Amino acid sequence: MDAVLSLNNISKSYGPIQALKNVSFEVPPGTVFGILGPNGSGKTTLLSIILDVLKANNGNFLWFGHAGSPEQRKRIGSLLETPNFYHYLSAVDNLKITQSISKRGNLQDIDIALKKVNLFDRRKSRFSTFSLGMKQRLAIAAALLGSPKVLVLDEPTNGLDPVGIAEIRNLIVELKNNGHTIIMASHLLDEVEKVCTHVAILKSGTLITTGDVDDVLMDEDLVEVKAADIN
Ligand code: ATP
Repeated sequence: MDAVLSLNNISKSYGPIQALKNVSFEVPPGTVFGILGPNGSGKTTLLSIILDVLKANNGNFLWFGHAGSPEQRKRIGSLLETPNFYHYLSAVDNLKITQSISKRGNLQDIDIALKKVNLFDRRKSRFSTFSLGMKQRLAIAAALLGSPKVLVLDEPTNGLDPVGIAEIRNLIVELKNNGHTIIMASHLLDEVEKVCTHVAILKSGTLITTGDVDDVLMDEDLVEVKAADIN
């Protein structure tokens, strides 16, 4: 089957800082694909490039085997930053506002997205009454509007309490089991081990290795990288 995403020699500099150096890998369909690396290794830069928020200096990438078209873009949902939800509005009203801005999907899609993140029963509750995990699940529901096949998430458990972290990790696995492909950045080795099926490890903008999580994380040569750089 075609790769969901193929990266080919992506490089990016910010002035003298080279954030990404000739990064190439493929994301197979139906996977939870972790982009693992310590702070400053280039994860957010890479996600911003594949979402067209930033332009690479060199290299190219293909979604579903093609250079980006608006139709293909609709198959990709993303969560790079926490959305600004209104605390005094309900979950459903917040998603109506998100939808009117993003123009993704229709009213029915809001219910579908709320069901996917297990918040349908709380759709009429005010955002202010939600736990941290529920707030993040609503953010993921916003990314799911329009039923995209692929979700791109930047450090989705950052800033959450232990309950919220477990909720989001379980949700990611559930979404994968329901046919979504998830691409997620993380600096947590144990998170990638628990949640991801595949991984690409970045260190100072360079791809160290990529493949099945079980194969990659068993690799003896990575012991040093694992111990020293990823915490
Ligand atoms: P973090 O988890 O801390 O966000 P990261 O792995 O996502 O780290 P990036 O944020 O992509 O890494 O940063 C990669 C490198 O590029 C770092 O050296 C960072 O300081 C630098 N960088 C990122 N954004 C900018 C910018 N707008 N201007 C200059 N340098 C930047």
